Amino acid sequence: MNQACFGVDIGGTSVKLGLVSRSGELLTKVEFPSEKEQCAMFDEIAAQIQSIRDRFPLVECVGVGVGVPGPVLEQKRVLGCVNLNWGEIDVSQELSSRLSLPVRVENDANLATLGEMWQGAGQGHRNLVMLTVGTGVGAGVIADGRIIDGCVGAAGEAGHIPMPYHTDWSCSCGKTGCLEVTASATGIIRAAKEYAPFKDMLSVTAKDVFDAAKAGNEDAQRVVDEAGACLGMATAMIGCIVNPELFLIGGGVSAAGRMLLTPIEEAYRKWVFAPCRNARFALAELGNNAGIYGGAGLFFCQA
Ligand SMILES: [Zn+2]
Repeated sequence: MNQACFGVDIGGTSVKLGLVSRSGELLTKVEFPSEKEQCAMFDEIAAQIQSIRDRFPLVECVGVGVGVPGPVLEQKRVLGCVNLNWGEIDVSQELSSRLSLPVRVENDANLATLGEMWQGAGQGHRNLVMLTVGTGVGAGVIADGRIIDGCVGAAGEAGHIPMPYHTDWSCSCGKTGCLEVTASATGIIRAAKEYAPFKDMLSVTAKDVFDAAKAGNEDAQRVVDEAGACLGMATAMIGCIVNPELFLIGGGVSAAGRMLLTPIEEAYRKWVFAPCRNARFALAELGNNAGIYGGAGLFFCQA
């Protein structure tokens, strides 16, 4: 019988859920809105999983790997998710009692990194770091093939590394001057809005800023360069601690591609400890499915 696992990526607005075979094939995928109420959310996830199991009677389901936007301990206990309005909760217990399957839980950025290591741009590597640059900046750190969670599940919170840029801008975490206040989509837009033509525009996206830079707007270029320099300096700091062979850049802002990668790499090589200089930089490949692959990877890929 063919073995497969469910990967579930719980986000603030939607839940992505897929069935992935042991060989890494995404057999099916569904996406549905996140329920406001905790219990209703777990009921809905369990019902969706059961319905898929009914459609794949010949597949032996080994387990369920779940990603959540918050710190997780022992691949079970979620210590809280601001986006979901959750306090501390044992997600593994909630789902395994509904499904009679083993359930492992991880922080969503860590899970996406594992997904990329197993089936995406990180294949063949056991020491890698992925930065997810979107509304905020998240990161996952894998050292010697293992996800680093830290003592309160907060390892890899690279978005909150203090940076010498916009040191008075406040961050969602309560501090000021974090990496994500400059380098996230939100930060890029905020910085661009200090300049024409963005100042008077009703809605600005990070893509607008990259497009303007590409078209030769110097202010937009400065904003892009600053975001890249920040990300590069942060990767240099991370590099000095965990010495990965590969950095992946994912998330919505990574659609800018080379335009973002180049300033990151330049800043990295400038600031990192010399023996770490040869780390490779690449774009993540799995997009929104990275968390689903990572969920299955918790059973099929981890050492
Ligand atoms: Zn912060």
